[in-house]
Amino acid sequence: MNRPVSEIQGVGPKMVEQLGEMGILTTEQLLEYLPFRYEDYAIRPITEGQHDERITVRGTVHSEPDLRFYGKNKSRLTVRVLVDGLLVQGIFFNQPYLKKQIMLGDSIVINGKLDKNRLVITGGTIKSQKDTVDGGLEPVYSVKGNMKVVAFRKLIRQAFSQFSNDVIEILPSQLLDTYRLMERQETIRQLHFPSTIESLKQAKRRMIYEEFLLFQLKMQLLRKREREGDIGQKKIFQMEDVQAFIEQLPFPLTNAQSRVLQEILSDLQLDLRMNRLLQGDVGSGKTVVAACALFATVIGGFQGALMVPTEILAEQHKASLAELLEPFNINVALLSGSAKVKERREILNDLREGKINILIGTHALIQDGVDFHHLGLVITDEQHRFGVEQRRILRKKGLRPDVLFMTATPIPRTLAISAFGDMDVSVIDEMPKGRKAIDTRWAKPSMLPRVIEFLKRELAKGHQAYIICPLIEESEKLDVQNAIDVHNQLQGELLPFEVGLMHGRLSSAEKDLVMKQFSENKVNVLVSTTVVEVGVNVPNASVMVIYDAERFGLAQLHQLRGRVGRGDTQSYCVLLADPKSDVGKERMKIMTETNDGFKLSERDLELRGPGDFFGAKQSGLPKFKVADIIEDYRILEIARMDAAKLIQSEAFWNNDAYRFLRIYLKNEGMFEDEKLD
Ligand code: ADP
Ligand code: MG
Repeated sequence: MNRPVSEIQGVGPKMVEQLGEMGILTTEQLLEYLPFRYEDYAIRPITEGQHDERITVRGTVHSEPDLRFYGKNKSRLTVRVLVDGLLVQGIFFNQPYLKKQIMLGDSIVINGKLDKNRLVITGGTIKSQKDTVDGGLEPVYSVKGNMKVVAFRKLIRQAFSQFSNDVIEILPSQLLDTYRLMERQETIRQLHFPSTIESLKQAKRRMIYEEFLLFQLKMQLLRKREREGDIGQKKIFQMEDVQAFIEQLPFPLTNAQSRVLQEILSDLQLDLRMNRLLQGDVGSGKTVVAACALFATVIGGFQGALMVPTEILAEQHKASLAELLEPFNINVALLSGSAKVKERREILNDLREGKINILIGTHALIQDGVDFHHLGLVITDEQHRFGVEQRRILRKKGLRPDVLFMTATPIPRTLAISAFGDMDVSVIDEMPKGRKAIDTRWAKPSMLPRVIEFLKRELAKGHQAYIICPLIEESEKLDVQNAIDVHNQLQGELLPFEVGLMHGRLSSAEKDLVMKQFSENKVNVLVSTTVVEVGVNVPNASVMVIYDAERFGLAQLHQLRGRVGRGDTQSYCVLLADPKSDVGKERMKIMTETNDGFKLSERDLELRGPGDFFGAKQSGLPKFKVADIIEDYRILEIARMDAAKLIQSEAFWNNDAYRFLRIYLKNEGMFEDEKLD
């Protein structure tokens, strides 16, 4: 089904270009470009509607629509509509053209949010009756550029009528039967043009299973190939030497650290390629484990790379690893985005010649032009973008290093195993001794003066603080604090203490400077956006104040909170928040009640169902078109087991029933070794 979209009737060069911008080149890609939600235009009696719920009703226009303009390009259209014998007011913002479409006495369908007390419907649209869609469900696609949803819908309809027969079933009938799954062509049809809510549900169920099964097959095939196929690089080192390194560290490792380090070291010594996920809550001490693994790699004759999401973190890791490793004649270098051309060239040269043992940087580390002499281990810290694709890039460069992913995202272990089907998982489930639990308080914004007083007392003791603000620019709509404003304001209020400012718009030189000043306690308070979220380590900081805390996901709040409590003094986290909903309030409470990231994730799951904990922030979990890895976790588990069974079965590799599945996987680049046709 590799037909270019130009074969669709009515698609000219301009449309081809627009589709291309959306990543759609073939009819297959177009048909598999699925709606991300559906507008429900099924008409219901108004008495069935719940307060604050979206509803679509039918009625007759009972008053001349009244259109008012205000502000800049803003308008409000009000019309009274007689619905099921009740007089309902419809209010529509910024759609002045609607006025022309309706006349007194017309029969219309209106849609929007229902205020049941006042009998008002706000916000949606008005349609004349002939426009309503089959089944009442209208697909909404995310389109880009000049493409309009309406045009896109038409396009899909045309493509489907021409090419629906190209949609071939890829799942074996045995699986379809077992789970009573909808057949593929019908699934795609229902996803684009649902006939009923129930059939849409069935189509989604089928698609979720398909996505997960294909994902699991890919992951497991990859793992199988990596395990059996290409030989890794055995690092030969003496355990005693690593032990000696560990013994001179400023602190003994916790049992959990020793255990996971052991798991990693044994992988390094094997011929197999390591592909391991290291999970450990914020502050559990992952960095030192990484240092030990890098040490072993270097004395085993290889180079190591440490990849991090931000320049700040890269700087910081460079400093701490250099301190630990340079006494052992291990050369640690930083590949910074802000390095001068000449400096960069030198670093790349030294790297190629093997004079640099460990290179630290952002994802630029694996890009073109960066050639290692003998790369043996890649560690990524809080760096979720590094996945299958990046490993493929490495392989293309002829590199097959061991890979270790470190993350503080407290994904339940079973989910982690399924979600990262191609990885082994190690967990640090213990905090270093002597850590005091961070005392977390929730304060209403009106209590800010008291928070400032408290802050001053802590600063007077010689401690430091972070103040986190959500955005750096004023945004009316979101009504969030502005880091720059907060900085200006606090500079005055906190005199004589020094208040620094950190945000993403600063140049890296400016960031470095303020970070350096903060870590040397020349800056006592750091007002920052969330750029400090991951990894930053300044143990003297004992207070974290988070403005508009209700705007953050719990995982993110937990990460932010983890910036304090890194030394042996009592640390505090103040959540300035005024959540309106009960759930919002409960979430603030949960934050004050537990310091354990795993517990936090479980409590949040209980409270509001899965999905929210990981928030908008990247969790590193893979994304799917229809499936949601957390929401649909049970199906993921089933698919994981089915995939494992399939791969082991004779039939999968030979039987005709699996032919299209094999072809599909092959097209996805899964069988580079030409094992299958
Ligand atoms: P994270 O796992 O969040 O990356 P870090 O590696 O930054 O945590 O460690 C947090 C702090 O704990 C650092 O200051 C580190 O030096 C310290 N630390 C790590 N391991 C131990 C240990 N076994 N005993 C005492 N302190 C430790
Ligand atoms: Mg860290």
